[in-house]
Amino acid sequence: MTKAESDNRITVMEVLDFMSILNAFSSPILVAKPIKNENRTEDFELAFFNDAFTKQINHTLLGFRYYHEFKDYLSPDVPWLDIADKVLNNIPCEPVTYYSEVSESWFRVEVRKSYDDYLVINLENISKEKEQDRKLTETAYHDTLTGLYNRNRFTEDFNGFLENAEFNGTKIALILIDIDNMKNINDLKGLSAGDEILKRTAEILGRFNPQKITSYRFGGDEFLVLVHNVASLDSVVNITDTVFESLSLEEIDVSGGISVFPDNTKSGEDLLRFTDIAMHCAKKGGKKQFLFFEPEMQRVFVQKLDMQSKMTSAVMESSFYLEYQPQFDIKTGILRGFEALIRWKDKEKGIIGPAVFIPMAEETGLILPIGTWVLNTAFMTLKHWQEKYGFSGVVSVNISPMQLKTPTFIDDIKLLLEKHSVNPSSVEIEITEGIMIDDMNDAISKMRQLKELGFKLSLDDFGTGYSSLSYLQMLPLDTLKIDKSFINGITDKDGVQANITNAIITMVSKMGLETIAEGVEKPEQLKILKEYNCHIVQGYLRGKPMPVARCEKYLSGDKSALLTI
Ligand code: C2E
Ligand code: CA
Ligand code: CA
Repeated sequence: MTKAESDNRITVMEVLDFMSILNAFSSPILVAKPIKNENRTEDFELAFFNDAFTKQINHTLLGFRYYHEFKDYLSPDVPWLDIADKVLNNIPCEPVTYYSEVSESWFRVEVRKSYDDYLVINLENISKEKEQDRKLTETAYHDTLTGLYNRNRFTEDFNGFLENAEFNGTKIALILIDIDNMKNINDLKGLSAGDEILKRTAEILGRFNPQKITSYRFGGDEFLVLVHNVASLDSVVNITDTVFESLSLEEIDVSGGISVFPDNTKSGEDLLRFTDIAMHCAKKGGKKQFLFFEPEMQRVFVQKLDMQSKMTSAVMESSFYLEYQPQFDIKTGILRGFEALIRWKDKEKGIIGPAVFIPMAEETGLILPIGTWVLNTAFMTLKHWQEKYGFSGVVSVNISPMQLKTPTFIDDIKLLLEKHSVNPSSVEIEITEGIMIDDMNDAISKMRQLKELGFKLSLDDFGTGYSSLSYLQMLPLDTLKIDKSFINGITDKDGVQANITNAIITMVSKMGLETIAEGVEKPEQLKILKEYNCHIVQGYLRGKPMPVARCEKYLSGDKSALLTI
């Protein structure tokens, strides 16, 4: 037991010791003596503060002795006297955080009492922590590339905005904006060009008054614009027009979908889904446009989803089959081969043609398993025909751009060749110009590899896309298929289509390619094609696509097995 404890008095030396210990602390400490009135603390007197406290606190405070003298300099929000009372009565008290205007700093204050009922106040400057917190929240809610609010912030804001609108009886328009062809921009011009476009878009969206219109980068190349207090749909159209025109000036094309609360729905989740559906309709309908959501879009969308899930089961249950359409040499009439054409037999809908489901399979990526199935089945059939019927022609198989783009495509097709021990010179791969759109170099390199493996290569639907004879020379092709739309017109009186077709056949033949006329339905067409020295005919006139059994009947010598018109 020390002397101080025994008689409640401390020596000068002890006080000096105590002060030097407190001064050694880096956090500011203040010791105050409470002044009570009927058991309530009504003031306190500063008894001691350490060096760290002197450093922290603005010097104007240092001349004061009593709380009532300097309380106006403290944060008025903090109930200092109540805190003192609590502490003195042993009531638990959380540290208090406050901002001091005088020292322009944030403080965390912890108050304890000494054994002789003095208040020991520990003051910590937490401005740095606060600043870090602020930066963290800012990055948590802002997109680093564009500086716009991000998706987190949208999620945080959205329900509150909807509740406000509901409460005030106002409308909100939600606009989803998606940059057209962003993938192409990134692929062709590089990621930094893509970033630049995102930044410029954000900058244009950021020009709106944030009280009225809040913009967010929703992710990737998608932006969400929320229009508060929508007076009329016209005002929303004005806004989208402004966005559209400002972006156009910067050569940025966008598509967008708009849904309106509460007109379309009161559910935030549905509202968001509806803008997405409307945006996709805008894209599908040719891009560069904004569309308001309509219930019909939802119906089509649901139907599509239904079709997609059906197609997924069709892949699992192998509800597909191939038909084969014969091709003949125009001069000799000898069978050249067959084109494999896929069909889908659905339990409820019956037979569905590829024109309906292939585009959807491409959209969903299901084209990959379907495409592999087609190759596998066609190779198997080819092998069987060669062995059983001595078939010596080619089987043509259609390949989607997406399939060719798959990095493993060449290896996969090699494995299939080995599996069926098929000679690739009996297989013709049909591609369309769509293959060149995204990455021409990759497409050409894949075509070369196919060629090296020994496959024949043919360009399908020539004349429908941006067909140009100049790039035909760059592609390692064997065959050119002239689209049905050309053949349809070759009997026209004005002779325009006929002349073009004639010129194409002549030039392409000079390049050493074989020409196939597709969709030949009339004898007159065939006659003209023969005059033009087109090599091969494929069309209903000479043979429609047929199931395997019928083809085999034909291959075994029954010429009447052919289906024609
Ligand atoms: P395509 O490759 O141009 O195939 C020719 C299409 O024209 C076939 O339609 C064929 O039945 C049709 N056709 C042939 N001759 C005539 C004719 O004289 N008159 C008329 N009106 N039509 C004729 P289909 O089988 O409906 O195929 C449509 C398209 O679907 C194909 O066009 C092809 O692009 C795609 N496709 C078919 N099978 C596959 C496949 O296995 N994989 C991929 N990726 N696409 C396929
Ligand atoms: Ca084809
Ligand atoms: Ca074609």
